[in-house]
Amino acid sequence: MHCFVCAQQGKDTVAISMCIVCGMALCNEHLVREDLDMWEGGYPMPRQKAQKKLPRILCQECYSALK
Ligand SMILES: [Zn+2]
Ligand SMILES: [Zn+2]
Repeated sequence: MHCFVCAQQGKDTVAISMCIVCGMALCNEHLVREDLDMWEGGYPMPRQKAQKKLPRILCQECYSALK
């Protein structure tokens, strides 16, 4: 699988992860990894406080939408 963002720019970068919200494949340069202790939107996780901070992989679009 190739990075979706890179593919849009005509590049051919191998994806190392994917956005947990939209499922977009992402390379290291385009993924956003954040430790969030609460998920605001209720999707894909239930709306509840996690016991501890969980790392989330997001694309930049979903990250800015949820921030
Ligand atoms: Zn990329
Ligand atoms: Zn996304």
